[in-house]
Amino acid sequence: MFDNLTQKLTQTFKNLRGQGRLSEENISEALREVRLALLEADVALPVVKDFIGRVKAKAMGEEVTRSLTPGQVFIKIVHDELVHLMGDHNDRLDLSARPPAVILLAGLQGSGKTTTSAKLALWLQEKEKKRVLLVSTDVYRPAAMEQLAHLGRDIGVDVYPTRANERPVDIARRALEEARRRNDDVLIVDTAGRLHIDSEMMAEAQELARAVNPVELLFVVDAMTGQDAVNTAKAFDAALPLTGVILTKTDGDARGGAALSVRAVTGKPIKFLGVGEKVRKGLEPFHPERMASRILG
Ligand code: GDP
Repeated sequence: MFDNLTQKLTQTFKNLRGQGRLSEENISEALREVRLALLEADVALPVVKDFIGRVKAKAMGEEVTRSLTPGQVFIKIVHDELVHLMGDHNDRLDLSARPPAVILLAGLQGSGKTTTSAKLALWLQEKEKKRVLLVSTDVYRPAAMEQLAHLGRDIGVDVYPTRANERPVDIARRALEEARRRNDDVLIVDTAGRLHIDSEMMAEAQELARAVNPVELLFVVDAMTGQDAVNTAKAFDAALPLTGVILTKTDGDARGGAALSVRAVTGKPIKFLGVGEKVRKGLEPFHPERMASRILG
């Protein structure tokens, strides 16, 4: 992710570094290039506009024009604004509710929900020493339920067994009762997705959220879907009380716009990144600072 953006920004900064002093003119030129690079990386237009406005306000100040190393100061401004754009700091999961804390995952089909449910279960078990129960409510795709059962067996996390012809909300309620009975710390609920946003999918997710009252309602989105990721995020955020986002498939050659836009568009933090197909080592907490450094190369 971000290869192209990094390459473009590196070139822009190289040109700036070569300048002894910076004039309004060459700052404007650099800003034009940064703007283009962000648009090419699929960052949403309003987000780009706002970002460039903020960088410009700082860069036109005395700090840059008077500095002995204006290029460096300019890069630092871009870096800091990127960090800010992505949410400043790592937002941890809030598991402070009386156990079992419920985490609900929502998103389109194919975004990586089921894989991410298992990754998250393993992460909580290994890193946070939590007792976790997993459940799939995707009654429309028995293969998805089977996939979760299989992943659970692989990583040693129990998956609540479901029967055919049950309503998703009943499955989730019974899984929650079971998690209580077992004294689990966390129940992760995987929901059904569709290929496109539709009102039935949203209504079902809303009903599930009301039934199990999640402390975390995480929107799972595929980074490879570019601008669509932002539109999908908006729609889910409007329909559901999201608490955060998990951006998947960031190990691919996605242009990175979703990572840079989602926070600004929804106001919800990216909490984790999916960084591989494998459940083990396939999930990382999201750190805006590290991501900004990566983008700037
Ligand atoms: P769901 O329909 O939302 O439940 O999506 P799945 O969990 O079935 O994932 C869809 C596909 O994306 C599968 O082939 C996963 O292996 C793959 N996948 C999920 N997360 C990642 C990731 O972070 N990186 C990569 N490369 N592939 C992923």
